[in-house]
Amino acid sequence: MSDRRISSLSPAFQPYVLELMTKLTEAFEPDGLVPYITDGKRTLSEQKELYGKGRTVLQLRKAGFTNDEAIRYSKSKARVVTWTMDSYHLQGLAIDIAFLDKKAGKLTYNANWRKVGDIVKSMGLTWGGTWKTPDRPHIQLDQKPMESHMDTEALWEHDAKEWAQGHGVIENWDNPRKPMTRYEIAATLMKFKNKFIL
Ligand SMILES: [Zn+2]
Repeated sequence: MSDRRISSLSPAFQPYVLELMTKLTEAFEPDGLVPYITDGKRTLSEQKELYGKGRTVLQLRKAGFTNDEAIRYSKSKARVVTWTMDSYHLQGLAIDIAFLDKKAGKLTYNANWRKVGDIVKSMGLTWGGTWKTPDRPHIQLDQKPMESHMDTEALWEHDAKEWAQGHGVIENWDNPRKPMTRYEIAATLMKFKNKFIL
């Protein structure tokens, strides 16, 4: 199990993962298997790289990639490995696991995944094994809508924030989710107008 992978996860998710690893370790001891985290928090470019697998340049353009990115990331002959660009891995709210087969000395996916699912669900976590397109190694923390709205950031919000900061349209981001006053909106619009000479 990789400590670095755990420490880069969302602080809200870390205690769950530690407890889950303990439970899985106990449950799979008789099978000679040790749980192992293969993937945790991903950067946006790591997610783009994964999303590019099994998709054409055109498909990536439709998913919002720039032309350069679409050309760089498209690996249309590869197998599709992810279904979304809005992955919980981006927020550090998901892990993927495999098992270390102690006898064979290598990683395996040949395990009793039903047992994994039962443990995951008993902890209130979401297991990818129940999805329409099952993703059995995937485990994520679904936060309540309000919490999730306050703590995590959608891709489009992230992009908008980077853009606005980069162009100096908005400078003070100490609490980006606090509603703007009408004066702040007016000031922001004026900055935008002056910046781009509308
Ligand atoms: Zn995953």
